[in-house]
Parts: sequence; C-alpha cells; structure tokens
Amino acid sequence: MEPKDLEYFEKLLFKEREHIQMELQDTEEKIRVSQQESSSDLSLYPTHEADIATDAESREGSVFIVENKAAILGKIDRALKKISNNEYGICENCGKEIERERLKCIPYAELCVKCEEEREG
Ligand SMILES: [Zn+2]
Repeated sequence: MEPKDLEYFEKLLFKEREHIQMELQDTEEKIRVSQQESSSDLSLYPTHEADIATDAESREGSVFIVENKAAILGKIDRALKKISNNEYGICENCGKEIERERLKCIPYAELCVKCEEEREG
C-alpha cells in the first residue's frame, strides 16, 4: 500500500476509535444509571416482575454493546500497529490485499470479503 493510502486509513482508524470510545462511555454511563435506578426501585417501590425483566434485558443488551465495542477497539489498535509495520490491508487468512472499498467501510477489517464470507457461511 502507498504511504499516502496508509496515511488515509490511519486517519480513518483514529476517527473511528474516537467515535467508538465516545459511544462506549455513553453506553457505560447508561448501564450505571440503570443500575442505580433499579436498585432504588427495589428499595422504595414494589416492582413488577415484568419491569425487572425488561430492565435486565436492556442492561444485558448494553453490556453486549460494550463488549462488542471493546472488541472493535482492540481491532483498531491492531490495525494501527499493522500500519506502522507496513502490513496493513493484508487478509489474515489468505494473505491477499483486502479490497479498498471494504477498508473504507471497515478500516479495521482483518479478512478480505471472500474469507469473511467463508467464515460466516
Ligand atoms: Zn482472504
């Protein structure tokens, strides 16, 4: 990959990382608030079981989002490391170049379209 392309994707990765870190903070804040709310609910009011279930579900969903985003952050860091090692944009499975259009959508992609499809299918 040309140095100017690497520079382009590096910027993209930094932007993506910033974006995800913000979302992560936001989601963690929501989890914290919902935990506080549910504990005060329990002590002050009789709570319907249905409410508890919905609360737990939405909290579980948020935890899933946090884990998911944390995994993406890890991938972004790895991609940034690859850029400094000049290994960026190479499929980890077949060793071919990952499609440029794919990297523009998912700058932290580790597999080319073909390998990703094979893994999912
Ligand atoms: Zn591949």
